[in-house]
Amino acid sequence: MADGSHPQSEAIFFCAHPDDGELLAGGLMASMASRGARVILIDATRGEMGTRGTPEGRDAEGAEAARILGVERDNLELPDGGIGRDMDATIHRIVRAIRQYRPRLVFTHTGTDHHPDHNDIHVAVRRAFFLANVMKYDTGQERFRPRKLMYFWSHRHEVPPSISFIADITDHWETKVRAIKAHRSQVDPASDSGPETYLTSDLFWHRIESRFGFFGSLINVRYGEPYLVEGVARVDDPLQFPDVSE
Ligand SMILES: [Zn+2]
Repeated sequence: MADGSHPQSEAIFFCAHPDDGELLAGGLMASMASRGARVILIDATRGEMGTRGTPEGRDAEGAEAARILGVERDNLELPDGGIGRDMDATIHRIVRAIRQYRPRLVFTHTGTDHHPDHNDIHVAVRRAFFLANVMKYDTGQERFRPRKLMYFWSHRHEVPPSISFIADITDHWETKVRAIKAHRSQVDPASDSGPETYLTSDLFWHRIESRFGFFGSLINVRYGEPYLVEGVARVDDPLQFPDVSE
């Protein structure tokens, strides 16, 4: 503890809205948690600007989804639709969370998305990832440097980013689907939570299935989730290199 570098969790997933984590990275979260990793899912907002549902209802749905995935859940309580409105305050809260949970890995959205909140949380997490280890950036906590920053894909990229790896989530697909379905106000048209949206349509489930099925096909498994890591991997022993699709 005194050296300022001792991790207390394996990963934090910073997500803009309460169902983003489940949709975009639920398989990997469940996979890590099933192997005993302490995984923290942090929503930046309570999704109060969503077409359907209420913040209180969405809190309860989020708690149920976290229980299904086997992760802990926290919330930065930033304004939905305004994560970038006061970037210094947003970054401060993210640094506080990194120093509190002390994760080995940090995950967030890519920065090439159609949703401004997704892009703003990407920018804020990148800056906070660096500042968390700056001693004189004062939050009243010890500084901390996570090992790596990684990005999960969003649904509707304007420009498809490259992929560094695809996680095999086949064994955790059903868990991911159950966690998404826990957000009843968002995805269940019978939940009477507001007007129809893309998430309550049949097309939504078709796209989820085909999208993660496609990424699974690239690594010869049923379902996969794509991730992007900045930088190049160091390989000391090429015999230990993971499988590469052909
Ligand atoms: Zn979102």
